[in-house]
Amino acid sequence: LLHKAIEKGGTTDDSVSERYPSREASVEDLEEALTLGHIRLAYQPKVRCHTGTIVGFEALARWHHPQLGFIPPDIFIPLAEDHGLIDRLTLQVTEQSLDWLADISSNDTARRVGQHVLQDTLLSLNISARSLENGELFDTILQHCRDRGIAPQRIVLELTETSAMQDATTSLDTLTRLRLQGFQLSIDDFGTGYSSMVQLVRLPFSELKVDKRFVMTANDSEESRAVIRSVVELGRSLGLNTTAEGVEDQETLDYLDELKCDLAQGYLISRPLPPEKVLDWFITHEA
Ligand code: C2E
Ligand code: CA
Ligand code: CA
Ligand code: CA
Repeated sequence: LLHKAIEKGGTTDDSVSERYPSREASVEDLEEALTLGHIRLAYQPKVRCHTGTIVGFEALARWHHPQLGFIPPDIFIPLAEDHGLIDRLTLQVTEQSLDWLADISSNDTARRVGQHVLQDTLLSLNISARSLENGELFDTILQHCRDRGIAPQRIVLELTETSAMQDATTSLDTLTRLRLQGFQLSIDDFGTGYSSMVQLVRLPFSELKVDKRFVMTANDSEESRAVIRSVVELGRSLGLNTTAEGVEDQETLDYLDELKCDLAQGYLISRPLPPEKVLDWFITHEA
């Protein structure tokens, strides 16, 4: 119930103190949360636009502070980035989600859901631009994959368009190395216009994610539809997967399918789910 409330409005409805936190979360709060393991994850499914087939899940960090209530990632991710805590957070997210991925990929789970499809599902992780400077983080991520017998090919590292492009030359080394190790690379929040074709061709990405701000407004805005069309076309011409995030209604999904956008993510398909809800969602979705 708590998770439901959190996914709905960002706060639980029945607590005034959570709606009006007494103070803002500080870096000390975040450090404590990391130490106590209070950062949890929600998983949002990603499906094929045309068939609805499940392709993967994106791990999204969740922080519920015992006193301050739900703190959105848009608040605590920048806090972590600004105070040198982001790699620690990323590693916790990685370990938690790889454990989970190993679990849903197990033969035991396949028996329970009566199918093996989850054994190939991808896991998308959000990576902060700051982390590209530090190659060590990715060595650890690779090691965590190996420890759990998970092929790096199943891991999609999502970088925001701004960050991935900001310093294309320094990032290029790291990105190329990650690609060679087998990781898939995705440009998140694409469509805001930072990257040129030249940069895109040069950087070893495998997916473009259309920013949800365009997808959510597709029905009402010709401008948004124009952005979506051009991103999907660009993706296709470069041989990249295109994913639309923020798909909230059937009309938008139909439009995306018409454009031959590959993948979709959004509340229409599923809200981000707490790990214990994912298999139920999957069983209902496949039925
Ligand atoms: P993002 O990577 O662009 O993630 C998509 C955001 O859109 C998520 O917000 C998700 O809950 C929300 N969303 C998904 N479908 C819909 C929809 O149909 N409608 C609407 N209105 N929203 C939808 P969330 O979970 O609040 O995360 C916000 C941002 O925080 C993420 O944006 C990502 O940039 C960052 N973030 C979250 N977890 C992590 C993490 O582990 N590491 C890093 N570096 N950043 C993270
Ligand atoms: Ca948000
Ligand atoms: Ca993302
Ligand atoms: Ca995004």
